[in-house]
Amino acid sequence: MERTSEGHLKTLLRTQGLRFTPDRLRIFRALADADKPVPVAALISMVAQDGVNQATVYRTLEQFLAVQVVQTVLLKDGIVAYELVPPFSSHHHHFICLDCGAVQDLPAERVDSALDKSMEGTGLRVMTHKVDIYGQCEKCHTPSP
Ligand SMILES: [Zn+2]
Ligand SMILES: [Zn+2]
Repeated sequence: MERTSEGHLKTLLRTQGLRFTPDRLRIFRALADADKPVPVAALISMVAQDGVNQATVYRTLEQFLAVQVVQTVLLKDGIVAYELVPPFSSHHHHFICLDCGAVQDLPAERVDSALDKSMEGTGLRVMTHKVDIYGQCEKCHTPSP
């Protein structure tokens, strides 16, 4: 699985005129291993031990965004996080708690079928979507005994 997606990354970068460099692969692997949205500061420290500098992280994230390898997720307090998008990860949505900052993945089905229904007859062709829902997680909205 890991190999397959790295092979896919290589092909994608090449078709977009970008080189498949060791640093780009390290950043990709860090995001794949995290398997959740990673704030930029955290990503920088994750790959620093492999010798990837901060400027490279920022530049690579911009490039990954442009060629649709990653998407941004806005966390509590406006912190920007990055995560891989399909086919590099499975399609899902997020619930972000505005009290504790916890991020939960939500299964795609419910929202996706509602979205499909809402687009019927509009003549619009949807290519992709992202849904991040903000509120209070169960722990934060349940009064303690
Ligand atoms: Zn919470
Ligand atoms: Zn969806």
